Amino acid sequence: NVRPLVAGNWKMNGTREALDQIKAIAEGVNRPLSEKVDTLICPPATLLYVATALAEDSPLEIGGQDCHQNVSGAHTGDISAEMIADVFGSYVIVGHSERRTDYAETDHLVRAKAEAAHAAGLIAIICIGETAEQRQAGQTLDVLKRQLSGSVPHEAKAANTVIAYEPVWAIGTGVTPTTEDVKVAHAFMREELVRHLGEEGKTMRILYGGSVKPNNAKELMAVDNVDGALIGGASLKATDFLAIYGVY
Ligand code: 13P
Repeated sequence: NVRPLVAGNWKMNGTREALDQIKAIAEGVNRPLSEKVDTLICPPATLLYVATALAEDSPLEIGGQDCHQNVSGAHTGDISAEMIADVFGSYVIVGHSERRTDYAETDHLVRAKAEAAHAAGLIAIICIGETAEQRQAGQTLDVLKRQLSGSVPHEAKAANTVIAYEPVWAIGTGVTPTTEDVKVAHAFMREELVRHLGEEGKTMRILYGGSVKPNNAKELMAVDNVDGALIGGASLKATDFLAIYGVY
Protein backbone atom coordinates (compact mmCIF):
# COMPACT_ATOMS: atom_id res chain seq x y z
CA ASN A 1 0.00 0.00 0.00
CA VAL A 2 3.02 2.30 0.37
CA ARG A 3 4.53 3.43 -2.92
CA PRO A 4 8.30 2.88 -2.74
CA LEU A 5 10.81 5.62 -3.52
CA VAL A 6 14.20 4.93 -5.03
CA ALA A 7 16.24 8.09 -4.48
CA GLY A 8 19.80 9.08 -5.36
CA ASN A 9 21.89 11.60 -3.45
CA TRP A 10 24.81 12.76 -5.57
CA LYS A 11 26.39 14.75 -2.72
CA MET A 12 29.23 17.00 -3.96
CA ASN A 13 29.67 15.05 -7.18
CA GLY A 14 28.75 15.87 -10.73
CA THR A 15 29.69 18.53 -13.25
CA ARG A 16 27.84 19.15 -16.50
CA GLU A 17 29.11 15.94 -18.04
CA ALA A 18 27.16 14.01 -15.40
CA LEU A 19 23.95 15.29 -17.00
CA ASP A 20 24.30 12.33 -19.39
CA GLN A 21 23.59 10.11 -16.39
CA ILE A 22 20.48 12.13 -15.50
CA LYS A 23 19.32 11.75 -19.09
CA ALA A 24 19.92 8.00 -19.05
CA ILE A 25 18.10 7.61 -15.71
CA ALA A 26 15.18 9.75 -16.92
CA GLU A 27 14.85 7.47 -19.96
CA GLY A 28 15.42 4.28 -17.98
CA VAL A 29 12.65 4.85 -15.44
CA ASN A 30 10.09 5.25 -18.20
CA ARG A 31 8.97 1.66 -17.89
CA PRO A 32 5.83 0.00 -16.57
CA LEU A 33 7.61 -0.09 -13.22
CA SER A 34 7.24 3.66 -12.86
CA GLU A 35 3.52 3.07 -12.22
CA LYS A 36 4.48 1.42 -8.92
CA VAL A 37 7.75 3.02 -7.85
CA ASP A 38 8.79 6.68 -7.52
CA THR A 39 12.28 7.77 -8.50
CA LEU A 40 14.34 10.79 -7.54
CA ILE A 41 17.82 12.16 -8.15
CA CYS A 42 19.26 14.95 -5.99
CA PRO A 43 22.16 16.45 -7.96
CA PRO A 44 24.29 19.34 -6.72
CA ALA A 45 22.50 22.71 -6.77
CA THR A 46 24.48 23.85 -9.82
CA LEU A 47 22.77 21.19 -11.96
CA LEU A 48 19.25 21.44 -10.56
CA TYR A 49 17.64 23.64 -13.18
CA VAL A 50 19.07 21.78 -16.17
CA ALA A 51 18.31 18.43 -14.53
CA THR A 52 14.62 19.23 -14.05
CA ALA A 53 14.42 20.21 -17.73
CA LEU A 54 16.03 16.91 -18.77
CA ALA A 55 13.58 14.96 -16.60
CA GLU A 56 10.54 16.95 -17.66
CA ASP A 57 8.92 14.19 -19.75
CA SER A 58 10.00 11.41 -17.41
CA PRO A 59 8.54 10.12 -14.13
CA LEU A 60 11.97 10.87 -12.63
CA GLU A 61 11.76 13.60 -9.99
CA ILE A 62 14.61 15.98 -9.17
CA GLY A 63 15.39 17.39 -5.75
CA GLY A 64 17.85 19.40 -3.67
CA GLN A 65 20.31 18.08 -1.07
CA ASP A 66 19.66 20.73 1.57
CA CYS A 67 17.79 23.99 2.03
CA HIS A 68 17.96 26.94 4.38
CA GLN A 69 15.15 27.28 6.91
CA ASN A 70 14.33 30.81 5.72
CA VAL A 71 12.67 31.81 2.46
CA SER A 72 15.28 34.39 1.42
CA GLY A 73 17.74 36.88 2.87
CA ALA A 74 21.31 37.46 3.93
CA HIS A 75 22.57 33.86 4.05
CA THR A 76 25.56 33.71 1.75
CA GLY A 77 26.02 30.37 0.04
CA ASP A 78 22.66 28.93 1.06
CA ILE A 79 19.65 28.10 -1.09
CA SER A 80 16.02 28.13 0.02
CA ALA A 81 13.31 25.55 -0.47
CA GLU A 82 11.50 28.17 -2.57
CA MET A 83 14.48 28.29 -4.93
CA ILE A 84 14.42 24.52 -5.38
CA ALA A 85 10.67 24.65 -6.08
CA ASP A 86 11.22 27.57 -8.45
CA VAL A 87 13.45 25.45 -10.73
CA PHE A 88 10.86 22.62 -10.58
CA GLY A 89 12.50 20.47 -7.94
CA SER A 90 9.96 18.49 -5.94
CA TYR A 91 11.95 17.04 -3.03
CA VAL A 92 14.72 18.16 -0.70
CA ILE A 93 16.94 16.12 1.60
CA VAL A 94 17.34 17.62 5.08
CA GLY A 95 19.46 16.57 8.04
CA HIS A 96 21.82 14.29 6.16
CA SER A 97 24.46 12.99 8.59
CA GLU A 98 27.16 14.75 6.57
CA ARG A 99 25.43 18.08 7.24
CA ARG A 100 24.78 17.20 10.88
CA THR A 101 28.54 16.52 11.18
CA ASP A 102 30.06 19.15 8.86
CA TYR A 103 27.75 22.01 9.91
CA ALA A 104 26.65 20.86 13.36
CA GLU A 105 23.01 20.78 12.28
CA THR A 106 20.73 19.98 15.20
CA ASP A 107 17.38 18.17 15.24
CA HIS A 108 15.75 21.52 15.90
CA LEU A 109 17.30 23.06 12.77
CA VAL A 110 16.50 20.01 10.67
CA ARG A 111 12.87 20.30 11.68
CA ALA A 112 12.85 24.00 10.69
CA LYS A 113 14.29 23.04 7.30
CA ALA A 114 11.63 20.36 6.83
CA GLU A 115 8.96 22.93 7.69
CA ALA A 116 10.47 25.33 5.13
CA ALA A 117 10.38 22.54 2.55
CA HIS A 118 6.70 21.91 3.28
CA ALA A 119 5.87 25.62 3.06
CA ALA A 120 7.46 25.66 -0.41
CA GLY A 121 5.44 22.63 -1.49
CA LEU A 122 8.39 20.25 -1.46
CA ILE A 123 8.57 16.74 -0.06
CA ALA A 124 11.16 16.65 2.73
CA ILE A 125 13.42 13.61 3.08
CA ILE A 126 14.49 13.72 6.73
CA CYS A 127 17.66 11.71 7.43
CA ILE A 128 18.41 10.05 10.75
CA GLY A 129 20.82 7.35 11.89
CA GLU A 130 23.23 6.32 14.61
CA THR A 131 27.03 6.52 14.58
CA ALA A 132 29.26 3.49 15.09
CA GLU A 133 29.95 4.57 18.69
CA GLN A 134 26.26 4.93 19.46
CA ARG A 135 25.59 1.51 17.98
CA GLN A 136 28.40 -0.11 19.98
CA ALA A 137 26.98 1.49 23.11
CA GLY A 138 23.60 -0.10 22.37
CA GLN A 139 21.95 3.30 21.84
CA THR A 140 20.67 2.83 18.28
CA LEU A 141 16.94 2.89 19.04
CA ASP A 142 17.31 5.73 21.56
CA VAL A 143 19.09 7.82 18.94
CA LEU A 144 16.42 7.10 16.33
CA LYS A 145 13.70 7.97 18.82
CA ARG A 146 15.33 11.27 19.72
CA GLN A 147 16.07 12.22 16.10
CA LEU A 148 12.54 11.37 14.96
CA SER A 149 10.86 13.33 17.72
CA GLY A 150 13.24 16.28 17.26
CA SER A 151 13.50 16.45 13.46
CA VAL A 152 10.04 15.56 12.16
CA PRO A 153 7.50 18.42 12.10
CA HIS A 154 4.38 17.75 14.18
CA GLU A 155 2.25 18.49 11.11
CA ALA A 156 4.19 16.13 8.82
CA LYS A 157 2.07 14.10 6.40
CA ALA A 158 2.83 10.91 4.53
CA ALA A 159 2.43 12.89 1.30
CA ASN A 160 5.05 15.53 2.14
CA THR A 161 7.56 13.69 4.30
CA VAL A 162 9.90 10.74 3.85
CA ILE A 163 12.19 9.35 6.54
CA ALA A 164 15.59 8.03 5.51
CA TYR A 165 17.35 5.74 7.97
CA GLU A 166 21.05 5.93 7.27
CA PRO A 167 23.33 4.33 9.85
CA VAL A 168 26.34 6.68 9.70
CA TRP A 169 28.80 3.76 9.76
CA ALA A 170 27.14 2.24 6.69
CA ILE A 171 27.53 5.35 4.52
CA GLY A 172 30.22 4.97 1.89
CA THR A 173 31.80 2.02 3.67
CA GLY A 174 30.41 -0.95 1.75
CA VAL A 175 29.20 -2.28 5.10
CA THR A 176 25.47 -2.65 5.77
CA PRO A 177 23.50 -3.77 8.80
CA THR A 178 22.05 -7.28 8.65
CA THR A 179 18.52 -7.53 7.31
CA GLU A 180 17.45 -8.46 10.85
CA ASP A 181 18.96 -5.21 12.22
CA VAL A 182 17.26 -3.22 9.45
CA LYS A 183 13.97 -4.93 10.25
CA VAL A 184 14.20 -4.07 13.95
CA ALA A 185 15.15 -0.44 13.27
CA HIS A 186 12.42 0.12 10.67
CA ALA A 187 9.73 -1.55 12.82
CA PHE A 188 10.77 0.73 15.67
CA MET A 189 10.64 3.86 13.49
CA ARG A 190 7.22 2.84 12.19
CA GLU A 191 5.92 2.54 15.76
CA GLU A 192 7.37 5.91 16.69
CA LEU A 193 5.89 7.61 13.61
CA VAL A 194 2.46 6.20 14.38
CA ARG A 195 2.77 7.27 17.99
CA HIS A 196 3.65 10.85 16.93
CA LEU A 197 1.57 11.28 13.80
CA GLY A 198 -1.22 8.73 14.06
CA GLU A 199 -2.69 7.56 10.75
CA GLU A 200 -0.13 9.54 8.70
CA GLY A 201 2.68 7.59 10.31
CA LYS A 202 1.33 4.32 8.97
CA THR A 203 2.01 5.17 5.33
CA MET A 204 4.93 7.57 5.63
CA ARG A 205 7.80 6.14 3.62
CA ILE A 206 10.87 4.97 5.51
CA LEU A 207 13.89 4.53 3.24
CA TYR A 208 17.05 2.63 4.03
CA GLY A 209 20.35 4.27 3.04
CA GLY A 210 24.00 3.31 3.45
CA SER A 211 25.97 1.26 0.91
CA VAL A 212 22.92 0.21 -1.10
CA LYS A 213 24.29 -1.44 -4.26
CA PRO A 214 22.79 -3.45 -7.13
CA ASN A 215 23.95 -6.68 -5.43
CA ASN A 216 22.35 -6.07 -2.01
CA ALA A 217 19.32 -3.96 -2.91
CA LYS A 218 16.95 -6.84 -3.40
CA GLU A 219 17.30 -8.25 0.11
CA LEU A 220 17.36 -4.82 1.78
CA MET A 221 14.27 -3.60 -0.10
CA ALA A 222 12.40 -6.79 0.82
CA VAL A 223 12.62 -6.07 4.57
CA ASP A 224 9.33 -5.12 6.29
CA ASN A 225 8.82 -1.36 6.55
CA VAL A 226 11.61 -0.59 4.08
CA ASP A 227 9.84 1.59 1.53
CA GLY A 228 12.75 2.32 -0.77
CA ALA A 229 16.36 3.41 -0.76
CA LEU A 230 18.49 6.53 -0.47
CA ILE A 231 21.53 5.78 -2.58
CA GLY A 232 24.82 7.66 -2.60
CA GLY A 233 27.71 6.26 -4.64
CA ALA A 234 25.63 3.82 -6.69
CA SER A 235 23.31 6.61 -7.86
CA LEU A 236 26.09 8.34 -9.81
CA LYS A 237 25.99 5.76 -12.57
CA ALA A 238 22.71 5.34 -14.42
CA THR A 239 23.25 1.60 -14.88
CA ASP A 240 23.70 1.05 -11.12
CA PHE A 241 20.77 3.27 -10.17
CA LEU A 242 18.51 1.57 -12.71
CA ALA A 243 19.63 -1.87 -11.52
CA ILE A 244 18.55 -0.97 -7.97
CA TYR A 245 15.26 0.44 -9.26
CA GLY A 246 14.86 -2.81 -11.17
CA VAL A 247 14.68 -4.94 -8.01
CA TYR A 248 11.06 -3.81 -7.60
P1 13P B 1 26.33 5.50 -0.02
O1 13P B 1 25.24 4.81 -0.80
O2 13P B 1 27.45 5.99 -0.90
O3 13P B 1 26.78 4.66 1.15
O4 13P B 1 25.71 6.84 0.60
C1 13P B 1 24.50 6.77 1.29
C2 13P B 1 24.02 8.15 1.55
O5 13P B 1 24.57 8.85 2.39
C3 13P B 1 22.87 8.64 0.79
O6 13P B 1 22.36 9.80 1.32
